[in-house]
Amino acid sequence: PAALERAESLIAITPDFPSPGVLFRDIGPLLTDADALATVTHALAAPFEGGFDLVAGVEARGFLLAGAVAATAGTGLLPIRKAGKTPRPTASVDYALEYGVATIEAAGDLTGRRVLLVDDVLATGGTLVAAISLVEQLGGTVTGVAVVLELSDLGGRRRLPQARAVFTA
Ligand code: 5GP
Repeated sequence: PAALERAESLIAITPDFPSPGVLFRDIGPLLTDADALATVTHALAAPFEGGFDLVAGVEARGFLLAGAVAATAGTGLLPIRKAGKTPRPTASVDYALEYGVATIEAAGDLTGRRVLLVDDVLATGGTLVAAISLVEQLGGTVTGVAVVLELSDLGGRRRLPQARAVFTA
């Protein structure tokens, strides 16, 4: 569809960011465009409609998409934070990134909650695999994983066969 093609064309590609050799996909121009944001927000949620009551996203770009999807779907929102930002974390997971290492944390009780996880880019899958385990540590169930863009060369699909990607590169 034309609206999706137009949204995809707004993803900018920057070589050597944030470090040499990384081809960085920037969804910034897509976010600032009202039609593209609405189109992508809908596309993230549509495959999982009725199957989730909470949307989770990992700091920082995942926050933006999770907020948009939660507001559109009428669900709650769980921001998953990087290490050191949560006063009394009850769950913590270490993971490897395409570039570097990180820890994510959250607090709360997600018992009985059906969680849709969203992020901007699926690269190696490390972030989303870690986020799934964090949600499970909190007692929740991940019923969906949705990303704006899947980078097919980086192996994330093998680790997250259930993930739905709006776009693939
Ligand atoms: P993964 O954990 O799948 O290797 O990497 C995905 C995470 O790193 C996502 O949270 C994503 O924000 C970030 N990331 C990795 N590569 C890119 C990229 O090319 N563009 C953007 N925007 N984020 C990336």
